[in-house]
Amino acid sequence: MNALLSVSDKTGIVDLARALHDLGVRLLSTGGTARLLADSGLPVTEVAELTGFPEMLDGRVKTLHPKVHGGLLARRDLPEHMAALHRHAIATIDILVVNLYPFEATVAKPGCTLEDAIENIDIGGPAMVRSGAKNWKDVAVLTDASQYAQVVQELKASGQVSKQTKFALSVAAFNRISNYDAAISDYLSSLQDDGSRAAFPAQANGRFVKLQDLRYGENPHQQAAFYRDLHPAPGSLVMAQQLQGKELSYNNIADADAAWECVKSFDAPACVIVKHANPCGVAVGKDPLEAYSKAFQTDPTSAFGGIIAFNRPLDGAGAQAVAKQFVEVLMAPDFTPEALAAFAGKANVRLLKIALPPGGAQPWDKGQNLMDIKRVGSGLLMQTADNHELALADLKVVTKKQPTAQELQDLLFAWKVAKYVKSNAIVFCKDGMTMGVGAGQMSRLDSARIASIKAQHAKLSLQGTAVASDAFFPFRDGLDVVVDAGATCVIQPGGSMRDAEVIAAADERGVAMVFSGVRHFRH
Ligand code: 5GP
Repeated sequence: MNALLSVSDKTGIVDLARALHDLGVRLLSTGGTARLLADSGLPVTEVAELTGFPEMLDGRVKTLHPKVHGGLLARRDLPEHMAALHRHAIATIDILVVNLYPFEATVAKPGCTLEDAIENIDIGGPAMVRSGAKNWKDVAVLTDASQYAQVVQELKASGQVSKQTKFALSVAAFNRISNYDAAISDYLSSLQDDGSRAAFPAQANGRFVKLQDLRYGENPHQQAAFYRDLHPAPGSLVMAQQLQGKELSYNNIADADAAWECVKSFDAPACVIVKHANPCGVAVGKDPLEAYSKAFQTDPTSAFGGIIAFNRPLDGAGAQAVAKQFVEVLMAPDFTPEALAAFAGKANVRLLKIALPPGGAQPWDKGQNLMDIKRVGSGLLMQTADNHELALADLKVVTKKQPTAQELQDLLFAWKVAKYVKSNAIVFCKDGMTMGVGAGQMSRLDSARIASIKAQHAKLSLQGTAVASDAFFPFRDGLDVVVDAGATCVIQPGGSMRDAEVIAAADERGVAMVFSGVRHFRH
């Protein structure tokens, strides 16, 4: 048996080569890889010796030769193929180990030039991978160090690699080169005339990896599957580990994402309850139990069958409280044994464990998504994700009345929640808890009315509440509705033609109003 090893990332390669050698496999290799193997005391034949051609053109041409590709592509079951190999003194290559020039890592480096990028486009590597993967019945193609152990194990056990494994390796190999080519095409498509890179390339091939097929889509007559980005943000929903429960549905995943993105945005222990993609209760508290109890009070009716997320490990007390209600999906960075015990008898409840992102100054470290993608018929809309975070210092008080320190805290809390409520969003809050959420209405006035009706249903008093509006009040009527309901302070972006009228109304009603200067439409 012959193995050809040609890798840029040399992780694990010496151990693999040694194992192959011990199994009696002959080692063929290219320049750098061959040197490393020889230095490790392994007998290795250079491809240059095999082909009779030196590596040339700075390594651009190393393995592009019939002695290599013939050995990879010949069908062992066709006598004519084997006779051709014999005529031309070509040996079969049965195991191919290749990983490619690090194109993705190179272009990810700040200041990467076009020349650097071009030199990191691997030619011979993908060519060999294609040859071997096409001829998968006869060639095992390893494109990732994570595959080495299994192949060695099978060779040790039976002297060969199983058909099933070779097919799986071939699929992985084609996925790898397809992603590689997509990365090259994305990079080149993003270059602008001055050499800088556009955020949105002319062609966006960014690939997705399937996580699971779903039983059906948004409705039972639709088919669906769940994919993740090739490079997901740390701590995002796609990294979830399901600890128990029924299979996730399409709607579960969409709602779970809404809940998780919202709860992740809080520093204090928080709980978010979502129904139909909108938060119906959000609160912070000293622990998960308190946060949940407050969030639940906002709208106990809607919370039934909700999707619930925590940003702290869920303990026994919090879990026992949640277990009293019908819950579809429960998410937390972790669950204590007591919390798991609270759901042990509820086998249908889906428990998702998602490690929180490491944190830091960069959006990525905080687990924030870079891009937001929305489907439209036969197309996509792409935008940078809405990662804006409002600080106290950004607020501009525009009324005669100044908000109190407590009101400022409630305004910031309400603003944070409003960002995750579908527009038009009106959110009443007090003491770190939502008191009424008006979501997804075509008129801001109706969202305001609905928010206060919901508070009445939940028997909550809106006296002294803080209100957030995700976009400006175009007229004073919306403001009047929230003040009539009991709000004493309001946060909104400002920027309407009628700001003066709305500010005058706030002064007339004796409430405080602050402008955030940013808007959070969410559709
Ligand atoms: P080494 O470090 O062994 O000198 O080079 C290994 C790398 O060269 C691997 O990433 C492999 O994909 C790549 N490679 C192998 N053959 C060729 C070739 O003919 N042309 C180019 N451009 N790269 C090759």
